[in-house]
Amino acid sequence: WHRASRHPLQPACKHVRAQHAQAGSLNAITNTAAPSNAEEQGRLAGKNVAIKDNITTSSLPTTAASGILSTHVSPFEATVVRLLRQNGATITSTTNLDEFGMGSHSQHSVHGPVLSPFTRDGIPLSPGGSSGGSAVAVASGQCWTALGTDTGGSVRLPAAYVGVVGFKPSYGLLSRWGVIQYANSLDTVGVLARSVGDVREVFEVLNQHDARDPTSLPDSVRQRVTSSRSERQDHKGKALRIGIPLDYNITSLAPSIRKTYTTLLTTLQSQGHTLHPIHLPTTRLALSAYYVLAPAEASSNLAKYDGIRYGQRSTTATADASPAEKLPLYAATRAEGFGEEVKRRILLGAYTLMSEARDNYFLQAQKVRRLVQRDFDRVFAAPNPLLDAGGHDIGEGEREEDVVDVLLTPTAPTLPPTVEEVQRSSPVESYMNDVFTVPASLAGLPAASVPVALPEAVREGLGEGDVRSVGMQVIGQFGDDELVLRAAEVIE
Ligand code: GLN
Repeated sequence: WHRASRHPLQPACKHVRAQHAQAGSLNAITNTAAPSNAEEQGRLAGKNVAIKDNITTSSLPTTAASGILSTHVSPFEATVVRLLRQNGATITSTTNLDEFGMGSHSQHSVHGPVLSPFTRDGIPLSPGGSSGGSAVAVASGQCWTALGTDTGGSVRLPAAYVGVVGFKPSYGLLSRWGVIQYANSLDTVGVLARSVGDVREVFEVLNQHDARDPTSLPDSVRQRVTSSRSERQDHKGKALRIGIPLDYNITSLAPSIRKTYTTLLTTLQSQGHTLHPIHLPTTRLALSAYYVLAPAEASSNLAKYDGIRYGQRSTTATADASPAEKLPLYAATRAEGFGEEVKRRILLGAYTLMSEARDNYFLQAQKVRRLVQRDFDRVFAAPNPLLDAGGHDIGEGEREEDVVDVLLTPTAPTLPPTVEEVQRSSPVESYMNDVFTVPASLAGLPAASVPVALPEAVREGLGEGDVRSVGMQVIGQFGDDELVLRAAEVIE
């Protein structure tokens, strides 16, 4: 393989100007495979796919953009990568990300920050994160499609920021075997592409049970989901009942986003689709719950990187220290190997799992997660196939009168900030970008971000290099992945 030119420990450049609009200088790629002359057969023959660098490939290193895995080459390959190859796809490269998937702007990487091909006043915009490298690789034509991972929005947010399609399937449909864990109850493999049709091609190849992933949905459940769907009316070509979550109309929604959203809603209505205002009252708690649960799982998942079982061992502490001195090796390895944001998440997670804090944080957040799921079950016409016969554990009286097929929301509350604005912002300000994406993650629902052109009036106020589209998010009931893709095609 060929390692991207930036030295892994080179610090993030502080004032990157935009003369580097060329693909290579966007730093989307971490490693490139040597070209192969093999004649591939299969549905994806001749298609180049890039893989987020936290999904193992045996042909290229898998670093998760972390110093602690900077020399790691996996002895095995993720199931999703194996399926791509079996269907004839060529794995061309691995893509840059926020370390272990923790971030919203792809700036926290041992390989240096990723830059969007778009600029504002000459300054590169944030590509979104954490799958920013995958999104930029797709947007700049460095691959046909790319795989990403989405724990709280990491496929959808970068797709929105660089103007491509990003799809996070229902939790448990795509195998996580060989995917480096961040928060395993939320981690989902997703697909980024320039069209919904391309997303579907990749999704269909990957959508199958994997006995190696204990959370992969077994065939019996997949069949139940399919049959519960075919009993319902076939939506092909039919008008969609579109839910508009009133709770997403937050004051911090940028006017440009609101304008694009309302223009799109008017268009959809004129095409015969119906709009239904609905309430998801727990939405306002979802972000806080996510930022308790995800770091808690992360602190546990990342405990294995100790320089002994896993991870690049510290160079300043030695393994043959006496037992009393073992802690320095462990501590030094983690202090040297992890970046600041990852350390912050580990500390946050360790705190909320402490016996004194658990009841107030971790357990409360789990309750909120359950309420978020119920909010969704109340508004979808389709019952949740994961719940017992009859489909939902909600009292009849609790159910909304006006049930819907899909929900439509903006993917992010603002247009992408510049990388300089990101550097000036606090961690909590970065977390705010995920406010619209985390609810579907907490409930394990399928969701897609689709680029929608900014209305003329908004575009006039923008500079030459700026983004021309806004990401709009379609969310469906669990298992309604195909319906989400169909609705995404209506909007595209
Ligand atoms: N920005 C969110 C986080 O940092 C989501 C990341 C993701 O989906 N991997 O946790």
